Amino acid sequence: MTANREIDSIVQRAADGGRISSEEALLLYTDAPFHALGEAADAVRRRRYPDGVVTYLIDRNINYTNVCVTACKFCAFYRAPKHSEGWTHDTAEILRRCGEAVELGATQVMLQGGHHPEYGVDYYETLFASVKQAYPQLMIHSIGPSEILHMAKVSGVSIEEAVVRIKAAGLDSIAGAGAEMLPDRPRKAIAPLKESGARWLEAMEVAHRHGVESTATMMMGTGETNAERIEHLTMIRDVQDRTGGFRAFIPWTYQPENNHLKGRTQATSLEYLRLIAVARLFFDNVAHLQASWLTTGKDVGQVALHMGVDDLGSIMLEENVISSAGAKHRSNLHDLIQLIRTAGRIPAQRDTLYRHLRVHWTPEDDPTDDRVTSHFSSIAIEGGGVGRQLPLVEAR
Ligand code: SF4
Repeated sequence: MTANREIDSIVQRAADGGRISSEEALLLYTDAPFHALGEAADAVRRRRYPDGVVTYLIDRNINYTNVCVTACKFCAFYRAPKHSEGWTHDTAEILRRCGEAVELGATQVMLQGGHHPEYGVDYYETLFASVKQAYPQLMIHSIGPSEILHMAKVSGVSIEEAVVRIKAAGLDSIAGAGAEMLPDRPRKAIAPLKESGARWLEAMEVAHRHGVESTATMMMGTGETNAERIEHLTMIRDVQDRTGGFRAFIPWTYQPENNHLKGRTQATSLEYLRLIAVARLFFDNVAHLQASWLTTGKDVGQVALHMGVDDLGSIMLEENVISSAGAKHRSNLHDLIQLIRTAGRIPAQRDTLYRHLRVHWTPEDDPTDDRVTSHFSSIAIEGGGVGRQLPLVEAR
């Protein structure tokens, strides 16, 4: 119990599974004692997942182009059209990367890229159909609402038509990317040319209604207020009440290198962990909460497992976007499993839909494959960037 009866009562209600309002979430975020917040969020996690399992995923983030017309101020990955460092990968290279991922045990690909001025719905139809035909075992959890809005605009079709066509071509699930901050003021400050948060949610809602589920993300630390952080959660929860299509919420922290914001603001680990716990208490309608070891580091990711988190996300066989902005934390199969096990949880490999593929009940069950490790070819790494080929396994 704390000295504040109001906070005690909200924390207790949330821990018991009751719904809390946006105002109450903000009060918890700013004023609740750290340990009480973590304990309550962990109580929710224990009730949802009494087996103590924490999941991870093996996937590869493959970028088809870094050419983008949207010029977000926090982005270190994109190049404007005609820039000498702009690149695109053809289908053969994307399939080569998918093939390597399959060989390393990946169950998912995240195909993501800039808003290329010429890429309409037909480009994505061809891309997804090619991947699905070559590797039907891979789930295509890819692009985000901003790519959907962009491709619909380029092709002159509705959001609905774009969603129906790319689903038919093979898209299984939409990544929660591009959410950044959904409220207007902070979004306009960091991504003035990007579609609004309302439009991001509209595209998600259309997709959910057509049977394409997704995740939702949040990038914190670019100067938004505490109230705006909670407003972001509220906007997602309101849509989720109508569609139920968000499988997970994934907050991560802005990375400061090589972008126009220049790291003038950043979220601290404590702010991140408090947000994680409040998200677990606030989202009574979202099943999973993922920690971001890539941006916060593996230690903070492990602490998050005690603040309501039930998933550590992907080993990321390849990542080039966030790491271009300076996120240099790497992981591998062994490390991720050890993080989960030494936190007192049971590691399990999951698929895109959070189904357990292999539960490692005892250390004897832990898989070992030294090849399953994260790789970056980001511009933040010497010799990286410029669409460099990234072979992960020996060519046969
Ligand atoms: S975040 Fe996405 S939309 Fe924004 S500039 Fe980077 S690649 Fe383009």
